[in-house]
Amino acid sequence: MVGCQTLPEIPNVILIVTDDQGWVDLGSYGAEDLVTPHLDSLAAGGLRFTDFYTAAASCSPSRAAFLTGMYPQRVGIPGVLMPQSRRGLHPDEQTLAEMLKGLGYATAIFGKWHLGHDSLHLPLQHGFDEYLGIPYSNDMTPDAVKNPNPPARQHPPVPLVDGFRTIELEPDQSQLTRRYTERATAFIDANHDKPFFLYLPHTFPHVPLFVSEAFEGQSGAGLYADVIMEIDWSVGQIIETLQHYNLTGNTLVIFSSDNGPWLIKGDHSGHAGPLREGKGTTFEGGHRVPMLMFWPGIIPPGVTRAMASAIDVMPTVAALTGASPGPFPFDGRSLVDVLHGGPSPHEALFFYQGYQLQAVRSGQWKLHVPHHYRSIHGATLATPTFQGAYRQDSIGLSLFDLQSDIGETTNLADSHPDVVDRLLGYMNRMREDLGDGLTDTEGSNRRRSRVLE
Ligand code: MG
Repeated sequence: MVGCQTLPEIPNVILIVTDDQGWVDLGSYGAEDLVTPHLDSLAAGGLRFTDFYTAAASCSPSRAAFLTGMYPQRVGIPGVLMPQSRRGLHPDEQTLAEMLKGLGYATAIFGKWHLGHDSLHLPLQHGFDEYLGIPYSNDMTPDAVKNPNPPARQHPPVPLVDGFRTIELEPDQSQLTRRYTERATAFIDANHDKPFFLYLPHTFPHVPLFVSEAFEGQSGAGLYADVIMEIDWSVGQIIETLQHYNLTGNTLVIFSSDNGPWLIKGDHSGHAGPLREGKGTTFEGGHRVPMLMFWPGIIPPGVTRAMASAIDVMPTVAALTGASPGPFPFDGRSLVDVLHGGPSPHEALFFYQGYQLQAVRSGQWKLHVPHHYRSIHGATLATPTFQGAYRQDSIGLSLFDLQSDIGETTNLADSHPDVVDRLLGYMNRMREDLGDGLTDTEGSNRRRSRVLE
């Protein structure tokens, strides 16, 4: 086989993404009531990012960014795909899995795909050899207990898909984390002697929350903490399997979350700590999430404050593996220098809600242009059987200094007009590139619309 002698030097890649886990929902990020020893070991032995952002504050677009290196608007996935939708990531987009397949990697995904769930869009159409999982959110069910939203009752039963085939309807969700993990370790078993890419996008801690019997009540801090404990166990199983095959020195393990916590879910929600708001907003609580990169012997342990994004994951993997990027330039940048203590590769990062460009960050500064948002302040939080309600709010032109004001509380726009002008300049350039639903409902003609209807 061509390249056989070089294959062992190509690192395995494992990307673990949880769903709606908040910025402070790990011991290494300050959680005091969560039991995360395995993730804390990754943080201690790897690089922990304090200023890492998802590219969207909801599930589908966030995943599009992790897997393509693009802002989700550029690949036509600006918002959450519902079960009734036939849209999905266009087959012509190159995913991380397809990029690594070009180097001969075995590839698998176990968990929540959420980039299209008909036969045109499922993971096996996007470079993955194996798939098991609920292909979208676990609350998109007609079961009124699992999702009290009235529209949810119009959803079809939740499928559990293996490859292209639905093998169960309304599967026992308490077994999902365990089943994903067992498939993941079996995949490593089967491919330990060749390069592999394992993508493990957990269904949880997205609501409705479920844990297996082994973890029920074990955290002593409630169901959310139990769910995080089981995910941490899963990470431990993955690392143990790598150790069994002596692969930890040849495997890049990446751990992150797809967006901030769904705060309206009451005590079934994660936590954003000092950050403003949560999932579904362009405030820090919506976009800033945990990020750990672990590769003993290659990535020095430490903490980085460099600003980085989910759009950087694929360019970083390309740089570390020598894989060929696709035909379109990435929006993201390689983080290889950051892994060795270097500064952020980004002059600016942008925050969209759907097709609306709402904010930009450059250095310590974050600028919001006027927009409406859903707020938890004054809202009715949900109990496990009751759907809460947001309060609609709005923000005017606002400049925040994240270095001294991580909670985005004090508007400094009037006292720093030069900074405002500079950041507005970045936003104007982005509008010309990707469009902006606030001013241009058709979007820019440069946006690559690649969604199949
Ligand atoms: Mg999510």
